[in-house]
Amino acid sequence: MKLIFDKSVQGRFGVMPPASDVPTTVNIKQEFRRSADANLPELSELDVVRHFTELSRRNFGVDNNFYPLGSCTMKYNPKVAERIASYPGFAHLHPLMPQLRMGGLLTQGALEVLYDMDKFLCEITAMAGFTMQPMAGAHGELTGIMIMAAYHRDKGNKKTTVLIPDSAHGTNPASAAIAGYKVVSVPSDNRGVMDLKALKQMVNSETAGIMLTCPNTLGIFEPDIKEICKVIHSVDGLCYYDGANLNAIVGKARPGDFGFDIVHLNLHKTFATPHGGGGPGAGPVGVVEKLLDFLPVSLVVKRNDGTFALEYDRPKSIGYIAPFYGNFAIILRAYVYILMLGKEGLKEVAENAVLNANYIKEKLKAYYDLPFPQVCKHECVFSASRQTEKGIHAIDIAKGLIDRGFHPPTVYFPSIVKESIMIEPTETESKETLDTFIETMIEIAKQAHAEPEKLKAAPVTTPVGRLDETAAAKNVDIAEL
Ligand SMILES: *Cc1c(COP(=O)(O)O)cnc(C)c1O
Repeated sequence: MKLIFDKSVQGRFGVMPPASDVPTTVNIKQEFRRSADANLPELSELDVVRHFTELSRRNFGVDNNFYPLGSCTMKYNPKVAERIASYPGFAHLHPLMPQLRMGGLLTQGALEVLYDMDKFLCEITAMAGFTMQPMAGAHGELTGIMIMAAYHRDKGNKKTTVLIPDSAHGTNPASAAIAGYKVVSVPSDNRGVMDLKALKQMVNSETAGIMLTCPNTLGIFEPDIKEICKVIHSVDGLCYYDGANLNAIVGKARPGDFGFDIVHLNLHKTFATPHGGGGPGAGPVGVVEKLLDFLPVSLVVKRNDGTFALEYDRPKSIGYIAPFYGNFAIILRAYVYILMLGKEGLKEVAENAVLNANYIKEKLKAYYDLPFPQVCKHECVFSASRQTEKGIHAIDIAKGLIDRGFHPPTVYFPSIVKESIMIEPTETESKETLDTFIETMIEIAKQAHAEPEKLKAAPVTTPVGRLDETAAAKNVDIAEL
């Protein structure tokens, strides 16, 4: 393998290692070598190109059309970030490259990106330090809850339970359970926010902490958020902020200022990096000062001479969550995004995300039930309960949207709303796109009333129609995909 570095970035992000350092042959033992040539199909390049182009056209992404998948923040991924991530000085980095060699240039640029990103995220969230290692939001949750457990162990606290609102994303209780905690569900009240009275009765000396997202999964900001954090802190519990909904408040308000102690961010949501299909993502976790010692190894540190290094010697650390640098190329894209927008730009993200969601909410509320009519944040949650009178369910509306060229919103989540349809437009969509989507949703509402059997047959424009989704998830046949 030969490493090639672009001249424009040479010097800053990397230089060619001497030829003597590059392995030229690989020794594979005779017993592991194949005895006959592989029976590979013979196809022309053109046939292969057509095959994969055809497959790609069956796929749907934010580059195709509107993708209002609530809670997932499917915003546009700026192409400039892709371009920078593909610079050879970044793209050809190998995790085993030494941190300091040949003037310290080999991986110093990458370490500097991680170091700066830590500082940016601290400023955005009011935390004291971040680990960049977790590969997704759920991975960040597990990391954060392990930090919570390490804190209580260190103090000799006997804690057994984690409180989680009934509107929470399923990964929250799953993460707490994997970390060994009993999950206690806190009810929402008739405003769609946490029932503070109920919470106060549930908190006791066994409470290790609380996990919540704010605005919550209904897109509603928790008005009692400061009080909630105080109640948890009164029993030496910790407050965990699920940052999946940070897009609603980024640049405007900071979880650390509400009282949170641990935060994960989904870079693939708020910070515009690609996601879907299980990855790639990144879920950095930030903590307040008193939890810094528990962060996973390694951490990027800046030495007195101005160079950067990975630090492993941290006795109270929860240990390894991921090797080396985390999902570096994703962190890099998010870094570009933050630099590109700056402080004022990030504020506009939140403002426009909230404006777009409320625009859709107001335009569609005459056609679909709206269980919580107050001003929402970055997403709005409708219910298809009115349509069920005609035998139409949220899933039928979702399928009807596919036939009309849109990715469906999230349906049946959050589960506290019957027949829920959760729409998150994000800030990156134009008014024209929102208007076309709104018209389409109105047309579907009319069809649900006038000719429900037609909507029940959707989708009719896709290579496959309705799937048995449970069977499809449980018996994935990759060869046939
Ligand atoms: C997306 C999401 C998660 C999980 O994040 P992943 O990156 O998909 O693992 C957790 N909580 C909420 C509210 C989410 O929307």
